[in-house]
Formats: sequence, C-alpha cells, structure tokens
Amino acid sequence: MSRQALDELKQQIPLLDYLQAHDWRPVRQLSRGRLMGLCPLHEDHEPSFLVDSHKNLFYCYGCGRGGDVIRLAELYHQVKFPQALSLLRQWRGLAPLLHEVAGFYRMQLQRHGEAVAYLDQRGVRSPELIEHMRIGYAPGGRLRGWLTQLGYSLQTLRQAGLVTASGYDTYRGRVVFPLEANLYGRSLSAAAPPHRFLPGIKGGLYSWDQAQLYAEVILVEGLFDYAVLWQAGFHNVTCSMGTNLNARQFRQLCDGPRTVYLAFDADTNGSGQPAAQSLVCRLGEQGVNVRTVALPDGYDPNSFFVRGGDARQFQALLEAAR
Ligand SMILES: [Zn+2]
Repeated sequence: MSRQALDELKQQIPLLDYLQAHDWRPVRQLSRGRLMGLCPLHEDHEPSFLVDSHKNLFYCYGCGRGGDVIRLAELYHQVKFPQALSLLRQWRGLAPLLHEVAGFYRMQLQRHGEAVAYLDQRGVRSPELIEHMRIGYAPGGRLRGWLTQLGYSLQTLRQAGLVTASGYDTYRGRVVFPLEANLYGRSLSAAAPPHRFLPGIKGGLYSWDQAQLYAEVILVEGLFDYAVLWQAGFHNVTCSMGTNLNARQFRQLCDGPRTVYLAFDADTNGSGQPAAQSLVCRLGEQGVNVRTVALPDGYDPNSFFVRGGDARQFQALLEAAR
C-alpha cells in the first residue's frame, strides 16, 4: 500500500469516529478537539487516554502507547499492521452499511409474528431487552431492494456477505442481533443451519462495555443465554458467541481483577464442557478467579429460564459455583 493510499485511509476514518464506534466515550474536553477518556487498551481507572481529533492522534499517559488510527486498530484488535489495514478498510465500507441493515431488520421484527413468537418461545419478551440488544428480523427477499434503493451497489452487498452470489438476501427467516462489526442470525426454521455470521471478524465479548463495569462477570456461549440472563436482571453478563474465545475476548476477561462465572452448556456430549475446562485453566494461569456454574445436565442458561428457572434459582447456582 502506497504512502498516499495510507494517508487516504486515515483521512476516511477519523480516529474519533472509530473510537466511538467501539464504545469509547470522552470524559472531558481539554481544548477544542482534544478529549480525555478511559484508555481502551489497558485497564484504566481514571481518564488517561488523550485524543486529538484534529490531528487524528491518540496518546495514553497510563500505558504510554500512542499513534494514529492504524496503530490503534493494531493494538485494539491485537493484530499486525497488514491485518489492521484490512480491518480498517473493511470497517470503512461496512460500518454505515451494517447500521442501515440493523435498522431495517429492527423495523421488520414487529411486522412478523413468527419472529416475535420465536423470541417468545426462547424466553425473549421484554421490550427493554429487545431494545437493549437491538434485535431484528430478516424475513428474506426484502433487504437487497431496500439497500439498492439507498444507493448501495450489488457488489458492495455481495462483498459484505449480505447478498448471495446468486443475488438473494443471505439472511432469510432469521432473528438478527447486531454485533460490533458483524450480524448474528439465528434461523427460525430447523431446516436451515441454526447459526450464521457475516464473513469477517466476530469481534470482542458481547456488550463488554457494560459487563466490564462489574467485579463479577457471567460468561455464556450464546446470545439467547445472554438475553434471558440480562432480562432476569443479571446485567453483569457477557457472551463469547461460541465456546472458543478469540484472542481479544480472552484478553478482555484478563484485563483487570475480576471473578468470571462460566455458564456454558451442560451438555455431556457437547463441546461446552471440555471448552469450559480448558478456559478455566487458561484464565487461571492469567490470575483470573474462575468459577464454573453447574447447570442441570442437558441445560444451558437459556433453557434453564425457559423451562421455569428464575433469577433466585440462578443466583443460587452462582453462589454454589466452584
Ligand atoms: Zn492505556
């Protein structure tokens, strides 16, 4: 990539926009365009992260790191320079598009009784939760037309994975949850593969900016597990979207003193338990206090609540966790 192309990329992605899209919020303004906030790169307790939004540069007085948006992407996602560039290029094209898509799917949810019924059957009921998770529905066959009307080219939609090679909406009959830089779609029909993501990175732990405020964090493997716990009042919950944590998710759990309650699926034949065991060891090596929540055999947190478990009973499981 030429010097000129690098400069162009940096101009197209204002550092402040990128930070804010990753949930960074300034705490105070020093002077015009110079903002201080908590450092997203280390466990920061008082704002030590300076952003100069005119120069598009950052510097942290806590961990001593600084640079431009490319350097930030390298450090934040823990990737090397070329990967940071491709993440940024992808983000530049994808962020506004995914925002649009999430908005469209949210409008569809209330218009499709089958989606609301599916959510209800999975224990997802409170409007506050649906708002918090920005849950939507992809009926299929509508998105392409909508986005084309907004001026997006078919090529862009294919590249993002929203439209298949043959021109159809990729997500059909799926409840959709927006993630940092992706969309998770859960199929309503048993005939389709249940889980689907767009190509690209899964991102960090779900809703980590909220969960990380707690000294005790509950980690679950699925977004429906997350949903029922959040709805039951456990706002210290986060989700890895699968039993294998990526490097960034693992680092997030280790970035400060905390207790992690692992509540993976208690399915003796599934991948949940061995994955939980290995994660317990790896977190323990990093000095994280880990407890494993013993759900009844064959249950995950979602089915625990769907089959009648309540917050008090789950609290008892947390207290019994070893
Ligand atoms: Zn720092």
